[in-house]
Amino acid sequence: MKIGIIGAGQLGRMLALAGYPLALQVRFLDTSADSPGGQVGPIVTGAFDDPQSLALLAKSVDLVTYEFENVPIAALRQLAESRPCLPPVEALRVSQDRLYEKELFTKLGIPTTPFRAVDSLADLRAAVAALGLPCVLKTRRLGYDGKGQRYLSKPADVDPAWEALGSVPLILEGFVAFDREVSIVGARSTRGEECAYPVVDNTHRDGILRVTKAPHRSAALQRSAERHLKRVLRHFDYAGVLTIEFFVQRGRLIANEMAPRVHNSGHWTIEGAATSQFENHLRAILGMPLGSTRPVGYSAMVNFIGVMPPRDRLLALPGLHFHDYGKAPRPGRKIGHCTIVATSATERDRLLRRVLRLLPR
Ligand code: AMP
Repeated sequence: MKIGIIGAGQLGRMLALAGYPLALQVRFLDTSADSPGGQVGPIVTGAFDDPQSLALLAKSVDLVTYEFENVPIAALRQLAESRPCLPPVEALRVSQDRLYEKELFTKLGIPTTPFRAVDSLADLRAAVAALGLPCVLKTRRLGYDGKGQRYLSKPADVDPAWEALGSVPLILEGFVAFDREVSIVGARSTRGEECAYPVVDNTHRDGILRVTKAPHRSAALQRSAERHLKRVLRHFDYAGVLTIEFFVQRGRLIANEMAPRVHNSGHWTIEGAATSQFENHLRAILGMPLGSTRPVGYSAMVNFIGVMPPRDRLLALPGLHFHDYGKAPRPGRKIGHCTIVATSATERDRLLRRVLRLLPR
């Protein structure tokens, strides 16, 4: 069985590695021949909206999936006419636009940040008046890891924020003074089987995920996160892995965004859960039974951003797993991660402090 993966970044590479024990072969589509996926499978090089490249990929595989969100929908719809394409293109369409995402959460009864669409300076002024300060102005599309965002704390911030971002459709969100950020990763298979991993705690800096700790131990939070996840999965008649990121405020979940794909906050599952998110994604899109999501210990995942930390000193820590994506270091770029799996939360936190001390500042 051959799987086509649109995008050959680290997520694609980890999907391919999870596929080999299941006798799955992969072929990637990416703009660059030396993307991480190229270390483990062939890459068709071409633009994501180039019909010829897409046709070349489709021709050589049985099924197509994607590892990143900015695939042009029209191109994917065209490809889906010749090969099954999962997760459903409609889920990707919604996730590409923060406004559609928040409208969907609202429709499904999932609490989300207060929001307003903003297409003009007048809209922005009205939205700020309605939601109040502070608030966050974001581009609706193509924003990730905190890019394309402006924090507004006083009336004088309104005009400069419009000048900085106003050339594209925007969304204004009320600022959530959250206690913590969490996410849930889960899957639904083509046969309708569902599973969910434990809710995890995420720490961001400069809008980029730094640390994930698993599992989060609130049974109430787990129940409501799973309820929200399942609503989204069923809405799309979904197949594959899906992630929802939430703010937690006074014990209540507020959905921030969803990703119709394997997710950085699920990397800990490679060594920290009975079945990884990558394997479950493949099982889900191929209609295989889903694997257990049970954590095998207390895990922490730490991203390597911009600079690679001293590998051998990290490898010397007990229960640590090292992932180098083989990418050239660049400020703000995710170039690898490590996961610690420990037998208690205390031991995990002790090891995590040692890892963080070894990271270049
Ligand atoms: P995003 O690109 O929407 O995931 O935003 C990146 C990070 O910015 C989030 O992980 C939060 O830490 C912060 N953030 C985004 N939106 C809000 C909001 N409405 N209120 C408070 N913090 C936010």
